[in-house]
Amino acid sequence: MRKPIYLDNHATTRLDPRVLEAMLPYFTEKFGNAASRNHAFGWEAEEAVEQAREQVGRLIGAEAKEMLFTSGATESDNLALVGVAEFYKEKGNHIITAPTEHKAILDTCHMLEQKGFRVTYLDVDKFGSIDLNQLADAFTDKTILVSLMAANNEIGTLHPLGEVGRLTRERGVLFHTDATQGVGHMDLDVEAMNIDLASFTAHKIYGPKGVGALYVRRRKPRVRLTPLINGGGHERGMRSGTLNSPGIVGFGAAAELCRVEARSEREHLVALRDRLRKGIQGELDFVHLNGHPTERHPGNLNLSFAFVEGESLIMGISDIAVSSGSACTSASLEPSYVLRALGVGDDLAHSSIRFGIGRFNTLEEIDHTIKRVVEVVSRLREMSPLYEMAQEGVDIKTINWSAH
Ligand SMILES: *Cc1c(COP(=O)(O)O)cnc(C)c1O
Repeated sequence: MRKPIYLDNHATTRLDPRVLEAMLPYFTEKFGNAASRNHAFGWEAEEAVEQAREQVGRLIGAEAKEMLFTSGATESDNLALVGVAEFYKEKGNHIITAPTEHKAILDTCHMLEQKGFRVTYLDVDKFGSIDLNQLADAFTDKTILVSLMAANNEIGTLHPLGEVGRLTRERGVLFHTDATQGVGHMDLDVEAMNIDLASFTAHKIYGPKGVGALYVRRRKPRVRLTPLINGGGHERGMRSGTLNSPGIVGFGAAAELCRVEARSEREHLVALRDRLRKGIQGELDFVHLNGHPTERHPGNLNLSFAFVEGESLIMGISDIAVSSGSACTSASLEPSYVLRALGVGDDLAHSSIRFGIGRFNTLEEIDHTIKRVVEVVSRLREMSPLYEMAQEGVDIKTINWSAH
């Protein structure tokens, strides 16, 4: 078993060796610029890019022509929101989203608010799910866009994209989804779900970093965007700049593997994820699941361990690479804004761990993780008087902490 064990697959994934194999010639012999129209070097690169465009589109039921290549999901999210807001600003200035979206969405919304757009942040319940009735009530005659992610990158909760798409389409409002954590892990079909724009990225599906895609619907309705990057008119004029052809070829290969192996991969992830959850919860009490119990990403397990300190836990299991619910790697010790939006208390948010299981994880790694987590949590709790009281049945919340 290789250590540390990588269980942070929502942050990034290891490049699949088959993807690397497909990419290699495009760094060396096949180095042409896909926009060079006058010679074979350009034609060869263009052909490879167009094949990848087809492969990436097929993953979400889109046509090749509807896919733009970008530098990643962050750029795709920015282009979708700002591009639509700019282009349709005469029509309206209202956008609807949720507080649990990725920062690429939320920070872009904040920027748009500064420019005079109005943003509605829907409530989420304790599982991170939105209320479709509240969404239906949130539309105004100024609403131009709804942006809701497919699967949440922290807690795994899935949004009901099909129902959202029905509501937006009925009202002639555009629907964008950040599908970064959804592609390959759930059924995603831009036609069936009435999705008009969708962002995703290669490095979350075992492809290379620095290459992403934005789906932009061409028919019924034809979606228009104001570009963020101007130049040579690449990508239908919506995103100029020489294409990263090796990266795009890798993205295409990764998308194809994802599509073909989706079913067996989902089974693999669910089996490992459920084993991890049962293994931990079978041995430890006071462990809470964050996110939706069933409507969730197959490889996501987000747990809060009451009566332990998140940082001590992460340090204790240092041979396992995971993420914590507090941004304790950054300067702030602020608990995760996603967990906070769910109403998870600061103490539980601080003691939460996101396990992100991926294609290359094994049963052996999961069993080792269970063993380590149980050991470390038990040891930390031995030092906790609160845990002892909780075990004796004292409700910690009712304790009067006054000194006299
Ligand atoms: C990783 C991630 C992004 C950012 O993708 P990059 O390609 O790294 O820019 C955006 N949204 C979600 C949901 C993500 O998980």
